[in-house]
Amino acid sequence: MRVLVVEDDDAIASGLVDGLTNHGFTPTRVRTGREALAAAEPEVVLLDLGLPDMDGRDVCRQLRARSAVPIIMLTARSDEIDRVLGLELGADDYVTKPFSFRELVARIRAVTRRTNTSSDVSDESRAIVRGVLVIDRRAHRVTLSGEEVRLTPKEFDLLAFLAEEPDVVRTRGQILDNVWDVNWYGPTKTVDAHVATLRQKLGDARWIEAVRGVGFRLNEVDAS
Ligand code: CA
Repeated sequence: MRVLVVEDDDAIASGLVDGLTNHGFTPTRVRTGREALAAAEPEVVLLDLGLPDMDGRDVCRQLRARSAVPIIMLTARSDEIDRVLGLELGADDYVTKPFSFRELVARIRAVTRRTNTSSDVSDESRAIVRGVLVIDRRAHRVTLSGEEVRLTPKEFDLLAFLAEEPDVVRTRGQILDNVWDVNWYGPTKTVDAHVATLRQKLGDARWIEAVRGVGFRLNEVDAS
């Protein structure tokens, strides 16, 4: 798997490159935001927040604007997580420095698992149909009245989780456990931010209903 490592600190970068290589990944390292934006599209991006030429957040935003590639932010400050994973950035996950390699690899596998499950013949591969909304887990593709809706990996997982069982309300805790992972201790506001972008992309806020004090439910909305 091709991993783009965007990190200006040589010690951290060489540790990452060595570790990733040992784990069977194919890392490419760049030092600056500009180099990151000019690089060939990888299968996952590890993006340092503090870069010499640009703010990592701007790099994230620009990458996200043109691609759904999974992005994991590398941050030294846990209080930045909220903004990093926020609505306008579109990062899929983060790790806080110093991080363990095991943790990082688990995060990479979690955000990229969609690309590695195509041979699984399981419930996961079925398409979910909710009215005009079709969620194809095999192709990792969402269409609305036949038009493709481009989602980030986390948005896709969130939508698929909400759509799995009709009329069921999912709590924020269940969403965090299932869509992020059991090791996630991040703020539940992250869920709300992703719900907001999903509603925007689906073009109608009624698709995802907030059930006060409980969580979220997916509704079928008629095409207009
Ligand atoms: Ca840095």
